[in-house]
Amino acid sequence: MRLDKFLGNMGIGTRKEVKQLVKARAVTVNGVVVKDSGLSIDPDKADIRVYDEQVLYKPYIYLMMNKPPGVISATEDHRDKTVLDLLDADVRHYDLHPVGRLDKDTVGLLLLTNDGDLTHRLLSPKKKVPKKYYAHVEGVVTEEDVAAFARGVEIGEGYVTKPGELIILESAEVSKIELIITEGKFHQVKRMFEAVEKKVVYLKRLEMANLRLDETLSEGDYRELTEEEFKNLQ
Ligand code: URA
Repeated sequence: MRLDKFLGNMGIGTRKEVKQLVKARAVTVNGVVVKDSGLSIDPDKADIRVYDEQVLYKPYIYLMMNKPPGVISATEDHRDKTVLDLLDADVRHYDLHPVGRLDKDTVGLLLLTNDGDLTHRLLSPKKKVPKKYYAHVEGVVTEEDVAAFARGVEIGEGYVTKPGELIILESAEVSKIELIITEGKFHQVKRMFEAVEKKVVYLKRLEMANLRLDETLSEGDYRELTEEEFKNLQ
Protein backbone atom coordinates (compact mmCIF):
# COMPACT_ATOMS: atom_id res chain seq x y z
CA MET A 1 0.00 0.00 0.00
CA ARG A 2 1.17 3.54 -0.65
CA LEU A 3 2.35 5.33 2.48
CA ASP A 4 0.15 8.38 1.80
CA LYS A 5 -2.91 6.15 1.34
CA PHE A 6 -2.17 4.31 4.58
CA LEU A 7 -1.69 7.54 6.54
CA GLY A 8 -4.85 8.92 4.94
CA ASN A 9 -6.81 5.83 5.98
CA MET A 10 -5.49 6.13 9.52
CA GLY A 11 -6.74 9.74 9.67
CA ILE A 12 -3.33 11.43 9.65
CA GLY A 13 -4.17 13.68 6.73
CA THR A 14 -4.95 14.07 3.06
CA ARG A 15 -2.44 13.11 0.40
CA LYS A 16 -1.32 16.75 0.24
CA GLU A 17 -0.95 17.01 4.02
CA VAL A 18 1.06 13.79 4.13
CA LYS A 19 3.34 15.21 1.44
CA GLN A 20 3.96 18.22 3.67
CA LEU A 21 4.71 15.99 6.65
CA VAL A 22 7.19 14.05 4.53
CA LYS A 23 8.78 17.31 3.37
CA ALA A 24 9.11 18.32 7.03
CA ARG A 25 10.95 14.99 7.63
CA ALA A 26 8.28 14.04 10.17
CA VAL A 27 7.56 10.55 8.83
CA THR A 28 9.75 7.51 9.39
CA VAL A 29 9.36 3.91 8.25
CA ASN A 30 11.39 1.38 10.26
CA GLY A 31 13.48 4.22 11.64
CA VAL A 32 14.37 5.73 8.26
CA VAL A 33 13.16 9.22 7.35
CA VAL A 34 10.82 9.01 4.38
CA LYS A 35 11.54 11.10 1.29
CA ASP A 36 8.68 9.97 -0.95
CA SER A 37 5.08 9.99 0.30
CA GLY A 38 4.21 7.43 -2.39
CA LEU A 39 6.56 4.86 -0.84
CA SER A 40 5.22 1.32 -0.92
CA ILE A 41 4.78 -0.16 2.57
CA ASP A 42 3.35 -3.23 4.25
CA PRO A 43 1.09 -1.76 6.98
CA ASP A 44 1.06 -5.09 8.86
CA LYS A 45 4.83 -5.19 9.27
CA ALA A 46 6.30 -1.69 8.99
CA ASP A 47 6.95 0.53 12.01
CA ILE A 48 5.46 3.78 10.76
CA ARG A 49 5.82 6.93 12.81
CA VAL A 50 4.77 10.54 12.49
CA TYR A 51 6.76 12.87 14.73
CA ASP A 52 7.98 9.69 16.42
CA GLU A 53 4.43 8.65 17.29
CA GLN A 54 3.68 5.14 16.02
CA VAL A 55 0.71 4.85 13.67
CA LEU A 56 -0.90 1.50 14.35
CA TYR A 57 -2.66 -0.27 11.55
CA LYS A 58 -6.27 -0.96 12.43
CA PRO A 59 -8.30 -1.99 9.41
CA TYR A 60 -11.55 -2.41 11.37
CA ILE A 61 -13.06 -0.51 14.20
CA TYR A 62 -16.05 -1.22 16.40
CA LEU A 63 -17.83 1.56 18.25
CA MET A 64 -20.62 1.34 20.76
CA MET A 65 -22.86 4.41 20.68
CA ASN A 66 -25.66 5.43 22.99
CA LYS A 67 -27.85 6.75 20.20
CA PRO A 68 -29.67 9.95 21.10
CA PRO A 69 -33.20 10.75 19.91
CA GLY A 70 -33.60 12.87 16.79
CA VAL A 71 -30.86 11.36 14.66
CA ILE A 72 -31.17 8.80 11.90
CA SER A 73 -29.26 5.51 12.09
CA ALA A 74 -28.10 5.61 8.49
CA THR A 75 -24.95 6.69 6.70
CA GLU A 76 -26.65 9.67 5.04
CA ASP A 77 -29.92 11.49 5.02
CA HIS A 78 -30.95 14.49 2.96
CA ARG A 79 -32.90 16.12 5.81
CA ASP A 80 -31.76 14.95 9.22
CA LYS A 81 -28.53 14.45 11.08
CA THR A 82 -27.26 10.88 11.05
CA VAL A 83 -25.35 8.96 13.70
CA LEU A 84 -22.21 9.41 11.57
CA ASP A 85 -22.50 13.17 12.07
CA LEU A 86 -21.91 12.57 15.78
CA LEU A 87 -18.48 11.04 15.23
CA ASP A 88 -15.21 12.89 15.77
CA ALA A 89 -12.81 13.45 12.88
CA ASP A 90 -10.38 10.76 14.07
CA VAL A 91 -12.86 7.94 13.32
CA ARG A 92 -14.83 9.47 10.44
CA HIS A 93 -12.47 8.25 7.73
CA TYR A 94 -13.17 4.60 8.64
CA ASP A 95 -16.24 4.40 6.42
CA LEU A 96 -18.42 3.22 9.27
CA HIS A 97 -22.01 2.07 9.10
CA PRO A 98 -24.54 1.36 11.83
CA VAL A 99 -25.32 -2.31 12.46
CA GLY A 100 -29.05 -2.33 11.91
CA ARG A 101 -31.53 0.45 12.34
CA LEU A 102 -33.08 2.21 15.27
CA ASP A 103 -35.96 4.61 14.67
CA LYS A 104 -35.26 8.33 14.85
CA ASP A 105 -36.88 8.54 18.29
CA THR A 106 -35.32 5.32 19.64
CA VAL A 107 -32.28 5.62 21.90
CA GLY A 108 -29.66 3.25 23.19
CA LEU A 109 -27.25 0.65 21.95
CA LEU A 110 -26.02 1.07 18.41
CA LEU A 111 -22.93 -0.65 17.09
CA LEU A 112 -20.98 1.13 14.35
CA THR A 113 -18.30 -0.62 12.36
CA ASN A 114 -16.67 -1.00 8.95
CA ASP A 115 -16.55 -4.80 9.36
CA GLY A 116 -19.17 -5.96 6.87
CA ASP A 117 -18.83 -9.63 7.83
CA LEU A 118 -19.71 -8.94 11.45
CA THR A 119 -22.64 -6.78 10.37
CA HIS A 120 -23.89 -9.53 8.12
CA ARG A 121 -23.65 -12.12 10.88
CA LEU A 122 -25.45 -9.94 13.41
CA LEU A 123 -28.26 -9.00 11.04
CA SER A 124 -28.80 -12.31 9.27
CA PRO A 125 -32.33 -13.50 10.13
CA LYS A 126 -30.98 -17.07 10.20
CA LYS A 127 -28.77 -16.26 13.19
CA LYS A 128 -31.74 -15.13 15.31
CA VAL A 129 -29.56 -12.68 17.23
CA PRO A 130 -31.45 -11.54 20.37
CA LYS A 131 -32.05 -7.83 20.94
CA LYS A 132 -33.28 -6.53 24.26
CA TYR A 133 -35.30 -3.33 24.58
CA TYR A 134 -36.62 -1.28 27.46
CA ALA A 135 -39.84 0.63 26.80
CA HIS A 136 -42.56 2.81 28.28
CA VAL A 137 -45.90 1.73 26.89
CA GLU A 138 -49.19 3.59 27.08
CA GLY A 139 -51.73 1.12 28.45
CA VAL A 140 -51.68 -1.49 31.18
CA VAL A 141 -49.44 -4.32 29.95
CA THR A 142 -50.81 -7.66 31.18
CA GLU A 143 -49.92 -11.33 31.43
CA GLU A 144 -52.14 -11.83 28.35
CA ASP A 145 -49.74 -9.62 26.40
CA VAL A 146 -46.82 -11.70 27.72
CA ALA A 147 -48.57 -14.83 26.44
CA ALA A 148 -49.46 -13.20 23.12
CA PHE A 149 -45.86 -12.10 22.51
CA ALA A 150 -44.63 -15.59 23.46
CA ARG A 151 -46.93 -17.06 20.79
CA GLY A 152 -46.24 -14.31 18.22
CA VAL A 153 -48.49 -11.43 17.18
CA GLU A 154 -49.64 -10.25 13.77
CA ILE A 155 -47.96 -6.97 12.89
CA GLY A 156 -49.47 -6.34 9.48
CA GLU A 157 -49.88 -7.94 6.07
CA GLY A 158 -50.45 -11.28 7.77
CA TYR A 159 -46.93 -11.42 9.25
CA VAL A 160 -46.78 -13.14 12.65
CA THR A 161 -43.69 -12.41 14.74
CA LYS A 162 -41.42 -15.08 16.13
CA PRO A 163 -41.82 -15.60 19.88
CA GLY A 164 -40.73 -12.62 21.97
CA GLU A 165 -40.01 -12.56 25.69
CA LEU A 166 -41.94 -9.77 27.38
CA ILE A 167 -41.00 -8.89 30.95
CA ILE A 168 -43.33 -6.56 32.85
CA LEU A 169 -41.36 -4.28 35.14
CA GLU A 170 -44.33 -2.08 36.07
CA SER A 171 -47.90 -2.54 34.93
CA ALA A 172 -49.61 0.87 35.03
CA GLU A 173 -51.29 3.44 32.80
CA VAL A 174 -47.86 3.90 31.33
CA SER A 175 -46.23 0.50 31.77
CA LYS A 176 -42.51 -0.21 31.92
CA ILE A 177 -41.33 -3.32 30.19
CA GLU A 178 -38.40 -5.17 28.70
CA LEU A 179 -38.73 -7.16 25.51
CA ILE A 180 -36.34 -9.62 23.90
CA ILE A 181 -36.86 -10.35 20.22
CA THR A 182 -34.78 -12.20 17.66
CA GLU A 183 -36.00 -10.36 14.57
CA GLY A 184 -35.55 -6.84 13.30
CA LYS A 185 -38.60 -5.96 11.25
CA PHE A 186 -39.31 -2.30 10.56
CA HIS A 187 -40.77 -0.68 13.74
CA GLN A 188 -41.06 -4.16 15.18
CA VAL A 189 -41.43 -3.35 18.88
CA LYS A 190 -43.89 -0.52 18.21
CA ARG A 191 -45.95 -2.70 15.89
CA MET A 192 -46.00 -5.59 18.39
CA PHE A 193 -47.53 -3.30 20.99
CA GLU A 194 -49.96 -1.87 18.43
CA ALA A 195 -51.06 -5.46 17.83
CA VAL A 196 -52.20 -5.60 21.48
CA GLU A 197 -53.66 -2.06 21.28
CA LYS A 198 -50.93 -0.25 23.17
CA LYS A 199 -48.50 2.46 22.23
CA VAL A 200 -44.74 2.63 22.77
CA VAL A 201 -43.87 6.14 23.95
CA TYR A 202 -40.21 5.57 24.82
CA LEU A 203 -37.90 2.94 23.40
CA LYS A 204 -34.31 2.15 24.28
CA ARG A 205 -32.19 -0.74 23.07
CA LEU A 206 -30.20 -2.32 25.89
CA GLU A 207 -28.56 -5.33 24.26
CA MET A 208 -27.71 -6.90 20.96
CA ALA A 209 -26.30 -10.45 20.96
CA ASN A 210 -24.15 -10.41 24.12
CA LEU A 211 -23.22 -6.76 23.84
CA ARG A 212 -24.77 -4.59 26.54
CA LEU A 213 -25.12 -0.82 26.44
CA ASP A 214 -22.55 0.88 28.65
CA GLU A 215 -24.85 3.03 30.75
CA THR A 216 -22.00 5.41 31.57
CA LEU A 217 -22.18 6.64 27.96
CA SER A 218 -24.39 9.71 27.72
CA GLU A 219 -26.78 9.90 24.80
CA GLY A 220 -24.75 10.81 21.70
CA ASP A 221 -21.48 9.49 23.16
CA TYR A 222 -19.59 6.48 21.93
CA ARG A 223 -16.48 4.47 22.63
CA GLU A 224 -14.57 1.58 21.09
CA LEU A 225 -15.57 -1.92 22.18
CA THR A 226 -13.28 -3.49 24.75
CA GLU A 227 -11.30 -6.60 23.76
CA GLU A 228 -13.72 -8.71 25.77
CA GLU A 229 -16.85 -7.18 24.23
CA PHE A 230 -15.35 -7.74 20.80
CA LYS A 231 -14.43 -11.38 21.56
CA ASN A 232 -17.91 -12.09 22.89
CA LEU A 233 -19.44 -10.91 19.62
CA GLN A 234 -17.50 -13.47 17.53
N1 URA B 1 -38.45 -1.63 17.15
C1 URA B 1 -38.99 -0.43 16.89
O1 URA B 1 -40.20 -0.30 16.80
N2 URA B 1 -38.16 0.61 16.74
C2 URA B 1 -36.82 0.51 16.85
O2 URA B 1 -36.12 1.51 16.72
C3 URA B 1 -36.27 -0.74 17.13
C4 URA B 1 -37.11 -1.80 17.27
